Amino acid sequence: MTLQNAHRDTEQFRPSTLGLAPRFPAWRFRAKSEFDEFLKTRQPVLDSRHLHQLSLATREKTFERPGTCAVCLCPTLFQAAVNGEILSDGKRMPNWREELQCGCARRLNNRQRAVLHLAQSCGLLGWMKPLLLGAPADFTLACRALAPEIMPLRRFHFTGGTAHLAAASASCHFAISQDELQDIEPLQSALTELARVLVPGGRLIFTVPFYFGQSASVLTPGPAMRAGAHQLGWDILRRLQDAGFSNAEALLYWSEELGYLGNMNFLFLAVR
Ligand SMILES: [Zn+2]
Repeated sequence: MTLQNAHRDTEQFRPSTLGLAPRFPAWRFRAKSEFDEFLKTRQPVLDSRHLHQLSLATREKTFERPGTCAVCLCPTLFQAAVNGEILSDGKRMPNWREELQCGCARRLNNRQRAVLHLAQSCGLLGWMKPLLLGAPADFTLACRALAPEIMPLRRFHFTGGTAHLAAASASCHFAISQDELQDIEPLQSALTELARVLVPGGRLIFTVPFYFGQSASVLTPGPAMRAGAHQLGWDILRRLQDAGFSNAEALLYWSEELGYLGNMNFLFLAVR
C-alpha cells in the first residue's frame, strides 16, 4: 500500500449481493490497548487521510462532493457549509461530522447516516422495532423508512436517582442515541435501562463526543447540563458490560465515497 492510497484503506466499497447496505467501513476496538496497538502501525493511514482532507479545504461557502448515500442507497451530492477550521492559506474546512449532509430527502449528516448504516449492517430489518432516543425529526423519518415500527422517546426520566425509559422490558431490537449519553448522570443507570428495553441479542448504537486519548471518563459540572457532562473515555466499554451488554466496541469509521470524512469519527456498538 502506498502512502498516496493509504487513506482508502477501509474504502472497499462493496454493495451486498442482496441489495442491502454496503459493508460498514470501520476498525473495531474493544479496549484502549487495542486502539494503542492499532496506532503503532496504522498512524500513517490516519495521517494520509488527514492530509487528503486538508486538500479539500476551500474558499467557497459550500463544499460539494459526489458519492453514495449508504442509507438511501443511491448516488448523491454530499454538501457541507464551510464553517470549520481556517488553514494558514485562508482556505477553510467543513465540520465533517456535523455538517456533511447527503443530498437525499432527509439531508442526513455524517454521524446520522453512519448510525443508520451500522444498524443495517447489524441486521436491522423492516419488521423490527428500533427505539430512538431524542432523535430529530428528519432522522426519525429516515429511520421510519427503514423500520416503520420505530419507538421514538424524547428522553430519560429520573426518579430516586435512577434513569427510566417509558418502554417495556425486551420490547425493542435496536436502541439508537446520538450525542445524548454524555449529558446523563447517573450514566450507569441509563446504560442499564437501555439494556433492559432491548431483546437478548438486540443492539445499542450510539455516538458521543469521545475523548479517545483518555482511559477513564471525567464528569465535569457545567451550567448547561442538569448534573454535568461526561468526557467519555475508553472505560465506557467496561461500563456497557457492567450494564448487561455482552459485547461492546468502539468503531472508527471513514469513507470518502460514503461521505464519512473527518478524523477520529467513532461510533459505539453494544450487544445485549
Ligand atoms: Zn441519504
